[in-house]
Amino acid sequence: MIIQPKIRGFICTTAHPTGCAKNVTDQIEYVKSKGKKEGPKKVLVIGASTGYGLASRIAAAFGYGAATIGVFFEKPGTANHTATAGWYNSVAFMREAVQAGLYAKSINGDAFSDQIKNETIELIKKDLGTVDLVVYSLASPRRTHPKTGETFSSVIKPVGKPFQNKSVNFHTGEVTQVSLDPATDEEIRQTVQVMGGEDWEWWMRALREANVLADGVNTVAYSYIGPELTKAVYRDGTIGRAKDHLEATAGQLTDYLQPIGGHAYVSVNKAVVTQSSSAIPVVPLYISLLFKVMKEKGTHEGCIEQMHRLFDDKLYTWRDTELDDQGRIRLDDLEMRDDVQDEVSKLWATVTSDNLASLSDIEGYREEFMKLFGFGLQGVDYEAEADPIME
Ligand code: NAD
Repeated sequence: MIIQPKIRGFICTTAHPTGCAKNVTDQIEYVKSKGKKEGPKKVLVIGASTGYGLASRIAAAFGYGAATIGVFFEKPGTANHTATAGWYNSVAFMREAVQAGLYAKSINGDAFSDQIKNETIELIKKDLGTVDLVVYSLASPRRTHPKTGETFSSVIKPVGKPFQNKSVNFHTGEVTQVSLDPATDEEIRQTVQVMGGEDWEWWMRALREANVLADGVNTVAYSYIGPELTKAVYRDGTIGRAKDHLEATAGQLTDYLQPIGGHAYVSVNKAVVTQSSSAIPVVPLYISLLFKVMKEKGTHEGCIEQMHRLFDDKLYTWRDTELDDQGRIRLDDLEMRDDVQDEVSKLWATVTSDNLASLSDIEGYREEFMKLFGFGLQGVDYEAEADPIME
């Protein structure tokens, strides 16, 4: 079939197999261009099919020749419907990895469940024995608790008081004022259950109890802080509470892994366009302005540049891993520079629907968003028939 984008709200309900594959090979090329170094050898990536998790998998496999197991939750295609982008990305990744002589296997299912944890452990035992790096990169709106069966939903809301600020509909370019009511205690609790550190901890406990963690294992989960502009809705809001919990979990996990010389890190990454970040109010407008400023300064990075830097510069370097005063790796250093944030704040004060195109990189934002689903990539013939079943 001829596959076209179908936009519904902040998601695209179709994905292009060839475009997604090109997205993956572009990221592989970037990592290869940086040369091969000493680093992780056997890597488990939880949330490996899109965004930061996919980039982590690519950086580990093609930057260090690592064997990778990827866990994700994606839908395969049928004769009439395309698969989700993460499915196509993963099929393309596996194909490229196998061609390059690298071990790569994937597990598609609910990472929050005991069943998927057990399946993953069995696969590690059978094929790899142990893993020396575990990347935890899940972003999900829901989690069903494996012990109680209760399903929690995460919300993006301020805590304590209502929030009002500018936001953009990035498809139409309309800049409006959004108002969000503060979360209830129950909404905060549920958001922490979904996006906090409990599931990460359970993964690490299950892996260690099964003796599939190598001595000196590293594990890393991803967090975000962001600027004053988004603070009330992000870092001081419900999702920030979950990130506080995730960050506290890293400390506990480091203690837990100490007997095998392991370490749990949180890496605070930069704001990028992913399926998750495009769903957060205010953030797409902030990212459009941020991209404009960072591209002008020559400091712009996407997921793959960030993940390559994480491994190359922070986790697998001869230096001790550099941490902030709260024990976190900071990959958002370039985003948070004063000169960058000052300029973004100035633009923020004046941006409207009328001047959005000139003040921000809204066009770059849209392009990145479409690329998440495999659309708008150079060299892909979108008029050609494509097979939605790519396996
Ligand atoms: P994403 O939506 O691109 O990726 C989410 C991944 O989780 C996908 O692989 C998906 O298949 C998987 N997943 C979701 N639910 C699952 C389930 N139940 N079982 C198995 N897999 C499941 O998200 P992302 O933006 O790359 O976010 C990853 C992490 O990075 C999150 O912790 C996020 O907060 C953090 N982060 C994101 C940004 C940003 O700007 N996007 C910035 C800093 C940190």
